[in-house]
Amino acid sequence: MVDYYSLGLIGYPLDHSLSPRIHLAALKALGFKGEYKLYPVPAEPNGLEVLENLLEQVRQGILHGLNVTIPHKKTVLPLLDKLAPVARTIGAANTISLKDDQLVGDNTDSPGFLADLNRLGWSVLKEDNLHALVLGAGGSARAVVYALARSGWYVTVAARRPEAAEELIRAVQFIVAKTKPSGGRDPVIAVQLDKDSLTNLDPMPRLIINATPLGMHPREQESPWPLDVPFPPEAAIYDLVYNPPETLLMKIAREGGLRTSNGLGMLIEQAALSFAIWTGRTAPRDEMLAAIKDYISPT
Ligand code: NAP
Repeated sequence: MVDYYSLGLIGYPLDHSLSPRIHLAALKALGFKGEYKLYPVPAEPNGLEVLENLLEQVRQGILHGLNVTIPHKKTVLPLLDKLAPVARTIGAANTISLKDDQLVGDNTDSPGFLADLNRLGWSVLKEDNLHALVLGAGGSARAVVYALARSGWYVTVAARRPEAAEELIRAVQFIVAKTKPSGGRDPVIAVQLDKDSLTNLDPMPRLIINATPLGMHPREQESPWPLDVPFPPEAAIYDLVYNPPETLLMKIAREGGLRTSNGLGMLIEQAALSFAIWTGRTAPRDEMLAAIKDYISPT
């Protein structure tokens, strides 16, 4: 039984992180005492050393759980004893806990994204059109593609660097092989993130996910989707960005009559899943969301 939960987040920069508010609200709602500290750790000059020190504190039971974000989601992997399958496949961990004296890395971004898609009722979109388009090929794109491919969606990954998209596809190949239908197209393919490719998507995606930082503060005036290319009709737009709560991409799509959501729900879901790993309790999602209600998205 833990009397006082010492939790925290490693990453850099962390100035705008909502995680402390979310997790403190969860602890409070369940009557737990505890804290959620920010550990701003730049990659250089001694990031690895600081990371090792914090992990040692988890091993010794001084810290009871850590979240990890950019730039350490990948670099933390070799320092852990065990990885959950999702973290191993994606090649990134965002949640660290101690189980049976072993440091375990998990990734709650992927199930968190899927849970939010379900909450929005957008999972059923796939019944008449199974095609999703993911913009970007970084860490969160991997989490999203993993979730979608496992759920039977066909996914097109659009990235500015084709080699990044190809690398992503190689990483999720194991999942793709399992879901690959006989005949037909490959479940996950890559295209260049440019005007020409997005104009000529065939088939048209029913779901478009922004997994780039374009649109996020301080890049509010940028959109990963070229603004002079019409959106696929009836597409739903999920933007992983949640600050600002409505990105330029979401605004243009909403004005065109499309459904949109920001990534706030995913943020809550991934936090709820991390919280459950650390405490063994179902996270109080309503209280967690209420703690950051100023950011609630128009959907
Ligand atoms: P990341 O690993 O750095 O990946 C970013 C991706 O965006 C890369 O593919 C990158 O391409 C691409 N990109 C960056 N600038 C671009 C540009 N100008 N044009 C085209 N592509 C560009 O970052 P991440 O962790 O995946 O995060 C991406 C976004 O998702 C961030 O805004 C983050 O806050 C958000 N996020 C939200 C949640 C949530 O819970 N809602 C969870 C995770 C992440 P290159 O590789 O070529 O640079």
